[in-house]
Amino acid sequence: MSEENEPITRIITPVHVEYTYTPGVASERFLRGVREGKLLGGACDACGRVYVPSRGACPRCAAPTSEFRELSDKGTVITFCVVRVPAENIDVELPYCTASILLDGADISFTGLIQGCPFEEVRIGMRVQAVWKPEAEWDFSIGNIQHFEPNSEADVPFEDIKEYS
Ligand SMILES: [Zn+2]
Repeated sequence: MSEENEPITRIITPVHVEYTYTPGVASERFLRGVREGKLLGGACDACGRVYVPSRGACPRCAAPTSEFRELSDKGTVITFCVVRVPAENIDVELPYCTASILLDGADISFTGLIQGCPFEEVRIGMRVQAVWKPEAEWDFSIGNIQHFEPNSEADVPFEDIKEYS
């Protein structure tokens, strides 16, 4: 079969979009907190669950999350994966480990890179601590946290975190 008769199975069509992100009240509060090195969760007015970042309403009750609480930058690994596939918009050397982390005081997990230990040591229930960029580099971005790394605290038993898995 000549090249001109071969079926076209793939085309590349680069697209570039610029847009202005309007975070809304709850996300703005979260981003302003991050700018100061604080992780602010929003507590549901009805059930009390704490979301980080909060979107302004509880996904379970649809009630507002009016109260903001400063959360710890320590947490527990709920689940994780080792990424070996490159992505154009992620500037992290392969392979890397990303995890769902339940910050202390939160009721929803938060995604973060895990570094500071071999992948083989990352496990569900492992306690981790945020490693922040130098304060002079802080911006309105969750990128202020470079990664999470293990701390010396004992693992959390699966029974205590299974509802978040
Ligand atoms: Zn609720």
